[in-house]
Amino acid sequence: MFDALAERIQSTLEKFGRKGRIDKETLEKGLREIKLALLEADVNYKVVSNFISDIREKALGAEVVKGVNPAQQLVKIVHDELVEALGGEEAKLNLKNKPAVILLIGLQGSGKTTTAAKLANFLKKQGKKVLLTSADVYRPAAMLQLKKLGEKIGVPVFLEENEKDAVKISKDALKKTRDENYDVLIIDTAGRLHIDEELLEEARRIREETNPDEVLFVIDAMTGQEAVNIAKAFNDAVGMTGIILTKMDSDSRGGVALSVKGVTGKPIKFAGTGEKIEDFEQFYPDRVASRILGMGDVVSLVEKAQQVIDEREALSMQEKLLSGEFTLEDFRQQLRMIQKLGPIQQIIRMIPGLGSQKVLKQVQQAIDDKKLKRIEAIINSMTPEERRNHAIINASRKRRIAKGSGTSVKEVDALIKQFVQMKMAMKQMRKMQKKMAKRGRKF
Ligand code: GDP
Repeated sequence: MFDALAERIQSTLEKFGRKGRIDKETLEKGLREIKLALLEADVNYKVVSNFISDIREKALGAEVVKGVNPAQQLVKIVHDELVEALGGEEAKLNLKNKPAVILLIGLQGSGKTTTAAKLANFLKKQGKKVLLTSADVYRPAAMLQLKKLGEKIGVPVFLEENEKDAVKISKDALKKTRDENYDVLIIDTAGRLHIDEELLEEARRIREETNPDEVLFVIDAMTGQEAVNIAKAFNDAVGMTGIILTKMDSDSRGGVALSVKGVTGKPIKFAGTGEKIEDFEQFYPDRVASRILGMGDVVSLVEKAQQVIDEREALSMQEKLLSGEFTLEDFRQQLRMIQKLGPIQQIIRMIPGLGSQKVLKQVQQAIDDKKLKRIEAIINSMTPEERRNHAIINASRKRRIAKGSGTSVKEVDALIKQFVQMKMAMKQMRKMQKKMAKRGRKF
C-alpha cells in the first residue's frame, strides 16, 4: 500500500533536502507535487485541500529550529499531517463493559465475515473469552463460512440457522454471552452489494437492541472513494465508532486510509493485510505515516517478531552467528524465522534506514519470497554432513543438489558464495566487537 504515494512524496522531500533554505516559491512547487501525488493516490479532494493548506501554514509559520535544516523540518510537518489524516492518535477498542458487544457492518464482499474471525482470534489471543454470531439471515453460506472459521480458530459460533429475524438472533446471542460469561460478543451482519434502506434499517435495529460498545464499519481498501462515500452513508444512517480497513495488502494507492477519517470523522482501528487469519493488525497512524515517508517502522517489526519468534531460539541464533560456528543448517533455520514474519516485501518496508524508494526497490528486487523458498529448497537437498561443512560440496555434489532442488548449479554456487561472504562478514564483526571491548576496558 502507498507505493506510488510514498515514492512521490519522498522524492519531492528529497529535493528540498538539497536546499539550505526553502523560499515560498520552492515550497509552492513542492506542495503542488505533493497535492498531485495525493490525488493520484485517490485521496478525497477535500482532504487533500486541507492537507496542503495545513502544511503551507505550518511551513511558513514554522520557527527555524537551530540544528534542524528546513527540509527536515518540512518532513516533520508532512509526517504530522499524514498522522492526522490517518486518524491522529491510535484508536483503541472499547472493551470496558462485560460483556462487550462488537457489531460489524458493511457491504457484501468487503471482508466482513473474514474480519469477524480475525478480530475474534485477535481478542482470543489477548485472553478474552469470545463468542461469534452471524445475523446474516439472507445468505446461509455466510453463516456456514463463519462456522468454519470459528472451528479453525477455536472460537464458538452461535447460530440459529432457520431463524429469519436478524434482530432476534443478535438478542439470543447476547443472552448466551451473558449466561455463559463470555467477555466479548462479535456480531457479523448481512451485507448487500449496494447500500439499501432495508439493510441500513436492519443494522440500526440490531444496534438499538444490543446496544454495542463498538460498531465497526468494514471497508475494502480497493473500492476507493466510493467506499468512503458508503462509509459516510452508513455513519449517517446507523452510526459507527470506528473502521476496519481490509485488503490493505492488495491496494497500492492508499486513498481510503488517508480519506476516511476526514470524511466520516471516525478512526481506523484495525487493518486487514491478507487472506489468512493472522493477517490483521491494529492500526497505528504514526507508524503508517513513517512507512509512507520511508522512515521504516521498527516498533511494528519488533512486535511482529515477538509474536512469532521464540526469544530463546533467536538468542541462540545470535550466539552462533557471532561465534563463527554458523552452518548452512543454521542459515536455513534463520531463513525460516524470517519467513514466519510474513511476506518479505512487507518486512523490508519496515526496516528503517533503507532511505529512498530507490534503495528500497533494489533490495525488494534482490530478495523475494520465491527466492527464499528456492534457497531453502537447495539447503534441503543437501545431506546433513554437507549442511554442517559446506567445504565438502564439490562439483558432483553440486549437480546432485541442483537436481534434487529443481534449481541450477549456478544457483547452488551463488548460495554457497553468499553463505561464505556472510560468514566472513560475521567474523569481521566479531573482531570489531572484541576491539571495542578492549578499548572500553582501557578507558
Ligand atoms: P463479506 O462478504 O464481507 O463477509 O466478505 P468475506 O469475508 O467473505 O471476504 C471476501 C473476500 O475477501 C474473501 O475472499 C476473503 O478471503 C477476502 N479478504 C478479506 N479480508 C482480506 C484482506 O485483508 N486481504 C485480502 N487480500 N483479502 C481479504
